[in-house]
Amino acid sequence: MREKGIASGSRQDGEQQFEAALRPKRLADFTGQPKLKENLAIAIEAARRRGEAMDHVLLYGPPGLGKTTLAHIIAGELDVRIDLTSGPVLQKKLDLTGMLSNIERRQVFFVDEIHRLLPDVEEMFYSALEDFRVDIVVGQGPAARTHSLTVPHFTAIGATTRMGMISAPMRGRFGLLLRLNHYDVAELRKIVERSAALLDVTVDREGAEEIARRARGTPRIANRLLRRVRDFAQVRAAGHIDLGVARTALDMLEVDRYGLDEIDQKIMLTVLDKYSGGPVGLKTIAAAVDEEPDTIEEVYEPYLMQLGFLDRTPRGRKGTDAAFAYFGIRRTISTAMPQGSLFE
Ligand code: ADP
Repeated sequence: MREKGIASGSRQDGEQQFEAALRPKRLADFTGQPKLKENLAIAIEAARRRGEAMDHVLLYGPPGLGKTTLAHIIAGELDVRIDLTSGPVLQKKLDLTGMLSNIERRQVFFVDEIHRLLPDVEEMFYSALEDFRVDIVVGQGPAARTHSLTVPHFTAIGATTRMGMISAPMRGRFGLLLRLNHYDVAELRKIVERSAALLDVTVDREGAEEIARRARGTPRIANRLLRRVRDFAQVRAAGHIDLGVARTALDMLEVDRYGLDEIDQKIMLTVLDKYSGGPVGLKTIAAAVDEEPDTIEEVYEPYLMQLGFLDRTPRGRKGTDAAFAYFGIRRTISTAMPQGSLFE
């Protein structure tokens, strides 16, 4: 796979290089997401056999679950070039036409944060996706002329954490809509073990599992935690990570036992403490934690529900007994007792 540099505006700092180094290159090395992988493998194989561009793919799901990694893998499996850009970088139609005018047949064109394209750029992108053609207006006023630029058949891969912000016309132009879910502990353990081998540090099963448990269902976090634990292990434990080393290092870093971050905690405390376990409406929670309702629903809640801490009900969100126990909060009488019991 040949990779063309990320469009201007992106960071290429240590963290990104670290992530790139740990990225699996082949679909077979991509852990978890079995259904998604099966669908992708078929689409890739079909495109290879026909020698054509693959259908456009829209990947959606919370951050750090592997969308960018999959875009690279798809390009690698198709043995084509990948160009990368993102919604916030493509500010003007000219930025998009600039990139599209350099596209090769069958290559992958990856647009991260596709929900953040500005409306006129998004509209131009539609015709590129559907008709492989874009109209460019040259000149101004009465002298303006429209030129049509034909784009070779390529594969667009869009990634978003906010499916709710993708317009229907945009969604309709992608042949494959693939959702990434949070990973379970066994899958994350495998990812930690693989990354440890690449980072030249040894980790035993229990040590890897402890890191996995605290990674919030997210490979990116698992790799970050591993990096910190490795530092600790190299300084204090002759470079080997076992359960004790992982625990001590993660406790020192104040990583929550379930990997909950500050916003997860605020959401849970709002539901459990401020609203006595709920039900609480999504908008009320959003206002209390100062986040967009969509972000809470699409990025935070899936993990809290997977942990069994939060239930979505028609009347709002409710905290579970497990959540009350974990946060050490007692249910107040009004919700713990059956209705009417206060008067008995
Ligand atoms: P996203 O684009 O969804 O935010 P990335 O693709 O950038 O996430 O993944 C973040 C990090 O997690 C990368 O270093 C990548 O190697 C790792 N990663 C993600 N998914 C997997 C997976 N299924 N198997 C192994 N590593 C993964």
